[in-house]
Amino acid sequence: MQMQNTLKKQVHFQGVGLHTGSQVTVTVKPALENHGIVFMRTDVEPSVRIPALSSYIVDTTLSTTIGKDGVTIATIEHLMAALWGLGVDNALVEVEGPEIPIMDGSSYPFVKQFKRRGLHKQSVHRKIFVVTEPISVIDGDRYCYLLSQKIPKLTCSIDFAHPVIGKQKCEIKIDAKSFVTRLAKARTFGHLKDVEMLRQKGLIAGGSLDSAIVLDDQGVMNPEGLRYPDEFVRHKALDAFGDMALSGMRILGHLVTHKAGHELHYRLMRKLMTEKCGYVLDLTRQEQFQEELIPSFIQPTIA
Ligand SMILES: [Zn+2]
Repeated sequence: MQMQNTLKKQVHFQGVGLHTGSQVTVTVKPALENHGIVFMRTDVEPSVRIPALSSYIVDTTLSTTIGKDGVTIATIEHLMAALWGLGVDNALVEVEGPEIPIMDGSSYPFVKQFKRRGLHKQSVHRKIFVVTEPISVIDGDRYCYLLSQKIPKLTCSIDFAHPVIGKQKCEIKIDAKSFVTRLAKARTFGHLKDVEMLRQKGLIAGGSLDSAIVLDDQGVMNPEGLRYPDEFVRHKALDAFGDMALSGMRILGHLVTHKAGHELHYRLMRKLMTEKCGYVLDLTRQEQFQEELIPSFIQPTIA
């Protein structure tokens, strides 16, 4: 259960990049123990390896972008959510372009292929971070908390002044089954007027009704409708999975987010790395595993 995993075989994806609108090819390859998830831009000379860690995040404006030596890869979050959600700890992601294809706007196209290839259990324990002290990032009425909790859990809520969204809340255990059955198919979303503004600015050349839920003032413009009545909050939870993956560890704690997004997730992951709020569990010491996993759930106090 707590051993590292990689993929049994490599997987190819091809699709349109949301920002550039051009075709991008991605190859996800198996990797050795303790390799982690590492992206590699193969269309630049020499190729550049960028570890999928919060310290390599360079932009969180429209998506999560990582970079090194001036070379960047955008929109990694839905692929990261698929890897982390399924429990893939080690993989090399080769990308022939500046962004991961948007596919259908969810993690499902990635999940489907990874499940088809299967996972290979490895011989080294996972790195698990046990949260002992709560940390938080608050920005007005938006916030993220990470609390001590013996079962890894995510509670996500949103509040959009739109007739088909409004207030939505999603509570989910952080495990592969919950991720696949409840979150993986939830698509990203945007309002038509924002979509048009971003398209005019040349920021989403690859955006279409096939890659996102698009809303007008009354409802959903996609002819097929929604995949779940609360698809919006489920997608926000999916994004949180993808951004938590950039800790490079499994997190034993309870993440609570409200009206959050990539930027707040990023600030929380940075805090996790820099503030003393827990410890990395040594699974080779069974007595520590038994003794220290005592629940000490702390309720958030929200002003
Ligand atoms: Zn997203």
